[in-house]
Order: sequence, then C-alpha cells, then structure tokens
Amino acid sequence: MQEQSKGFRVQLICHGCKRAFIAFEGTSAYDRAKRNRNGMHYCEDCKNRIELEARLQLGRRLLTGKD
Ligand SMILES: [Zn+2]
Repeated sequence: MQEQSKGFRVQLICHGCKRAFIAFEGTSAYDRAKRNRNGMHYCEDCKNRIELEARLQLGRRLLTGKD
C-alpha cells in the first residue's frame, strides 16, 4: 500500500450526473462537503456546464434586454 497523495479527500455523488467523484482537501468542493455532507455537490464537469449555462443565459439577457 502506498500513499497516493497527501491530504484528505472525500467521495461525493454529483447531484447533476449522479456519478461518484473525489473532492480533495483544499478544493471548494471539499470545503463544502465538510460543512454540509448532505448538500448538493457537483463534479467538475457539471460545475463547468452550469457556469457556462449561467453565462449564456446572462449573455442572452443582455443581448435581448429582457428577462
Ligand atoms: Zn456531475
């Protein structure tokens, strides 16, 4: 058995794609998991997708000038 990396990690289930992913100590996902283990957690893929969608929506709103 060898130590793969230093620091703690937690395994979480992504709320978006329902896949298990690992959050490493020092990341925001890990901090959030420590504070609220049963909260909603998203893997990197889903987080990026959500951010992109939010940005697209904002852009569309700015372009059309309405909500
Ligand atoms: Zn996901």
